[in-house]
Amino acid sequence: MSKYTVLIIEDEQHILDLINGILISHDYKTIQAKTGKQGISLISSMCPDLILLDLGLPDMDGLSIISEVRKWTSNPIIVVTARTNEEEKVNALDLGADDYITKPFGTQELLARIRTSLRHSNRLNTDSQLYSRPYRCDGLVIDFKRRSVTINDKDVHLTPIEYKILAYLAQNSGRVVTHASLMTHIWGPFSETDNNKILRVNMVNIRRKIEQNPADPKYIFTEVGVGYRIKEDVNME
Ligand code: CA
Repeated sequence: MSKYTVLIIEDEQHILDLINGILISHDYKTIQAKTGKQGISLISSMCPDLILLDLGLPDMDGLSIISEVRKWTSNPIIVVTARTNEEEKVNALDLGADDYITKPFGTQELLARIRTSLRHSNRLNTDSQLYSRPYRCDGLVIDFKRRSVTINDKDVHLTPIEYKILAYLAQNSGRVVTHASLMTHIWGPFSETDNNKILRVNMVNIRRKIEQNPADPKYIFTEVGVGYRIKEDVNME
């Protein structure tokens, strides 16, 4: 099996070293860039399998790097940000970033984000039929062909909108899904802003039906100000 190559674009040496160390010890190949300009040039010359992009770079705004790079490649981009600015995360995702990770992050969190993004990008490139395989995680099974949802083999009855929300999250399992992307998926591109409230109400109902303790969910997590993330599917090997 050939190793995945990850390009790390990060101007702070100690963070660069930290990420690099984690990746090397987990069998990734790495390339490094300390400026946006250098990063863009390495993306085009080296075609890395995944890009870890720090948004606070000395020479360029990280967001403009995403929009530039998205003109010619769909390789996964995970944004690394120290800022807790939700708007910036949403903007990065809207511009085509696949996910984000907030500093300080743990080793396992970083590796999980990378694994998930690589799997989703491989699925898109090779076998979209994998999307029709049921989602399975801790007793929750979503069968996309039968449109059925079960918890520990017991049927869960969802409304059509609740099912649509849950299925979309599950097909993106492990990744953050923004409010805007959920609303577009459910109501189409001209979705009204009122739908945000309807989305929240539906989410409360979904959690009531699938979570043992809706106040402390174990399947669907809220990413404050950004969207939702469902726990990663165990099928995604
Ligand atoms: Ca920085």
